[in-house]
Formats: sequence, structure tokens, C-alpha cells
Amino acid sequence: MPRPIRATISASALQHNLLVAKAYAGGAKIWAVLKANAYGHGLERAARALEAADGFAVLDFQEAARLRVAGVQKPVLMLEGFFKPLDLPLLAKYSLTPVVHNPEQVEMLRVADLGGEVDVYLKLNSGMNRLGFTVDNLRAAYNAVRMHRQVGSVSVMTHFADADGPAGVSGQLSWAEEMLRQIEGLAQAPRSMANSAALIRFPETRGAWVRPGIMLYGCSPFGHAGTSAPPQMAELKPAMTLQSEIIATQHLQPGERVGYGFAYEAAGEMTIGIVACGYADGYPRHAPTGTPVLVNGKRTRTVGRVSMDMLCEDISDIPVAYIGTSVTLWGEGLSADEVAASAGTVSYELLCALAPRVPVAEVA
Ligand SMILES: *Cc1c(COP(=O)(O)O)cnc(C)c1O
Repeated sequence: MPRPIRATISASALQHNLLVAKAYAGGAKIWAVLKANAYGHGLERAARALEAADGFAVLDFQEAARLRVAGVQKPVLMLEGFFKPLDLPLLAKYSLTPVVHNPEQVEMLRVADLGGEVDVYLKLNSGMNRLGFTVDNLRAAYNAVRMHRQVGSVSVMTHFADADGPAGVSGQLSWAEEMLRQIEGLAQAPRSMANSAALIRFPETRGAWVRPGIMLYGCSPFGHAGTSAPPQMAELKPAMTLQSEIIATQHLQPGERVGYGFAYEAAGEMTIGIVACGYADGYPRHAPTGTPVLVNGKRTRTVGRVSMDMLCEDISDIPVAYIGTSVTLWGEGLSADEVAASAGTVSYELLCALAPRVPVAEVA
């Protein structure tokens, strides 16, 4: 038997969340973002559950090839494009749509025989200053791809730095539109701008294609406090539930301590449950005492430091809790957003960090 820890992935939650995204998208098409092993949910599994999406977005050519081997025929967007000239023949071979975001890529593309027609996304740097062209390189890039006889359609994209925060999107949106107005031929090109946060908050960013990721997995781009999140966020269903069991209990007297560094000291008499889940399973080591956890469906808190394979929780007020009792770390009944907020991070990081050693079960 494996250790009692397991992650359960709900196909119906993924499908439900896609419908929520579609409602926000209006008529825009949906690139379901499947990078990072579908945010830890499993690439092929997520693609199967999300088959009603219009296309899939990934980073890695191996991920793209795996989608094609799995029988996916929808468009596949390569979010960082290609990296080396050797990647180029894969574009037509697997019918992939690369994002082209720097002049080196343009040059690689310009001199390449692609072996077939390839659609291209040109990425604008509208202020995030991570990937994307300035207006001058954009013009040069557009001229180069337009001249390439194997380049099919040309779309444009940009990415928002603070769609979930106080800056919003208006500055970047108007800068992007200003750049596009200056380049004849791109003024009318299909746009793809919105991640989950922009899709939910800013309908004006929809364009032709939207790119939701985190919301498909049932988590919030706004974090746990998320006061700016519209009430519709509550419609999302967590797709991943991480569960384990208590494997030992300890009774503590006042002043006794728990775990590495003796980091937690019992103020009064208390009972501790030791859970088979640690940072080597993907649980954040920096989650402090007080991070929420469900024991047999009842909320309690972690105490002390998270170890590699175990964590400790206060079960003093949960009399039924004993060895074998079920523990939910996040998912159904306890949002990963809340656990992440307690640990000073975002649900994205928790989901992506699910360790390969955790057995995954899929439920309808
Ligand atoms: C990851 C990513 C997304 C999805 O973002 P979410 O916040 O998960 O919705 C969209 N676009 C790009 C370019 C990305 O890298």
C-alpha cells in the first residue's frame, strides 16, 4: 500500500469551471492554459476534461507533442514560442502556433523552411517588461513574418501585470492599442490579452481569444482576501483536492513542544495529529502555525514546522480524530487560496508544486 496521501482531480469541476470562463468570455474563444502539467492537475487528464475549450496553451514542446500523441486536434499555442532553430520543424509537424516575442526569434523564423504553414502570435510588451516587442521591433517583426510565405495568420497578444491588482489593465490596454494603431496591418489583427483576472474583471480585454488558467482549476487569481473578486468567483469548483490521514497522535502537557526547532509550544494540554503530508509532497514548508486544515471535515490548524514527510495539527477539539482519520490539506471544503494566503503565497504555487510522489486519482 502507498502512504495514505492522495490528490483527487475532478473532471466535472474542470468542465464546470470552463463553462464559467465561457460565460465571461462572451463570444471570445478560449485557450485553456495547460502549462506546468496543467497547474499540477496532469496535462492529458486536464486536456481530456477541458476538451470543449477552443485550444490549449503550453510552454514546452514536449507538452505540445504529448497533447498531439493523446489525440488532441485543437490549436495549441506555445506561450514562449520556440527557443532554438531545432524547434522550428516541430511547429508545422505538430501544427503549433508559436508566440514570437523577441527579434532573435524573428530572425530564426525569417530564414527557416517551416515545412508547412504556421500561424503566429506576435507578443507586445505593453508595460510588463517581461516578454514582448516594443513598437519598433513589432513593426520589424510584422514585416518579417508577413514576408514569410509559410506564415499563415498573424494575431497579437499581450499580458497584464496587474489585472488582479490596483493598477488594473487600462494603462497597458491603451498602450497596446496605441502600438497597434501605428502598424498598418496589425490594427485589425485578432487580439488575445486576458488571463483569468482580466477575463473576470475587465470585459474590454476579451478580444478574439482569452487565456484563462487558474480559474479553470477552481482557484482565484485574486488570492484569498480578494475583495475585488466579483461574487461569481464563488461559482468556481476546486478541481484538485489533496488529502491524507493521521498516522500518529501525541498528547502534550503545557510547555511541551512539537517538531523541528521545537517551534511550537503547547500553552495548555492538547492533542496533536501527525499527518502523512510534508513539503516533499508539495505542501509549503513556510506555512506557519495556524494554517487551516480539515480533519474529518472539521476545520483546525497546523502547529509547528512542516517536515519533509509530515505535518502536525491541533486535534484537541476533534474527539473522533485518530490514526486513519481523513485530513484535507486543500480542495473540496478548504480553498487552496486560503491555505496559500496563510503561507504567504498564491494557490498557483501550491497546485503546481504537487509532487510526483503523490498518487493522483481522477473522479468524474
Ligand atoms: C499563465 C498564463 C496565463 C494564465 O494566467 P492565469 O492567471 O492562470 O489565468 C495567460 N497568459 C499567459 C501568457 C500566461 O503565461
